[in-house]
Amino acid sequence: MVGVAKGLLAHPAVTRAMITGGARAIGDSRVENLRRLRENGYEGETVLLRAPSLSRAREVVCYADTSLNSDPLTVRALGEAARCMGKVHRVILMVDLGDLREGVLPEDAEGVAREMTGIPGIDLKGIGTNMACYGGAIPTREKMGELLGIRAGIESGLGVSLKTVSGGNSANIGLVLAGHMPPGITELRIGEGVILGREAIERLPIPGCFQDALVIRAEVIEVLRKPSKPWGRIGQDAFGRIPVFDDCGVRKRAILALGRQDVDPEGIRPVDKGVRVIGASSDHLICDVEDAERSLTVGSTLDFLPNYGALLLASTSPFVEKVVQ
Ligand SMILES: *Cc1c(COP(=O)(O)O)cnc(C)c1O
Repeated sequence: MVGVAKGLLAHPAVTRAMITGGARAIGDSRVENLRRLRENGYEGETVLLRAPSLSRAREVVCYADTSLNSDPLTVRALGEAARCMGKVHRVILMVDLGDLREGVLPEDAEGVAREMTGIPGIDLKGIGTNMACYGGAIPTREKMGELLGIRAGIESGLGVSLKTVSGGNSANIGLVLAGHMPPGITELRIGEGVILGREAIERLPIPGCFQDALVIRAEVIEVLRKPSKPWGRIGQDAFGRIPVFDDCGVRKRAILALGRQDVDPEGIRPVDKGVRVIGASSDHLICDVEDAERSLTVGSTLDFLPNYGALLLASTSPFVEKVVQ
């Protein structure tokens, strides 16, 4: 397993926990996060998950031991940078099995692998695929079989042996749990599964994992009973939309010091029963707390469980303090 740290911007405590928990390497899609890891003293293998930008080949080779690639020109630049630094950079060739994000088409994999193996400073370590991220294409046993077939084709066509077959991300966990992952798949790159304790196809809990290891906590800055429908002439809201409201009468509402700059309000779930997120602007989160079991006042805090998107925003917001307990 490659522990994927980008959901928490490679927070040192989280990456340490991943390694302690058995991850072989740490992966991230941003070079900046890999650099942060190194600067925090991590000495294990680093994997860059997003294809390197051609303009940043030197930095990539400096902070990543391995990167996922589909373009020979980029790999050539990585090879040159690696030779300048007296290093060998490892490359996983990505193959697109239908999700339509990164990767060469299956029929082109052998040709591209041939180009990449000839590049000085580069070790073509294996092939990989990434699914269920853009197109929603699900990794199945058949898709994994297809990937293994592509490896076999490259190995026999080029007379090389490929150590790594990197089968995917947290969307592949269901296959593993069901015992349907073919043995030739040597690696998975797992972020959400570790961080939120869920697989990424139906977002089902992974047995034995916590689903509440990460909590977003916000402070109440106003509690008032108000009508549930705006009054006066109604125009656009802060984001250019004309909002529509149901009239549920007068309700108790809490405003929290959290906004769209920090989370996706559709991606957080209140831990308290009877609390409902009803909306947000850039800096204000509005909750209906009429039926809350706890009495809330200014200064109270409310906890929310984030989905991956909300977590990513909260991690990235400089206004959200990160606390490890
Ligand atoms: C983000 C990412 C992962 C990890 O995805 P999770 O669903 O969080 O496990 C794996 N591979 C690549 C290429 C990624 O970009």
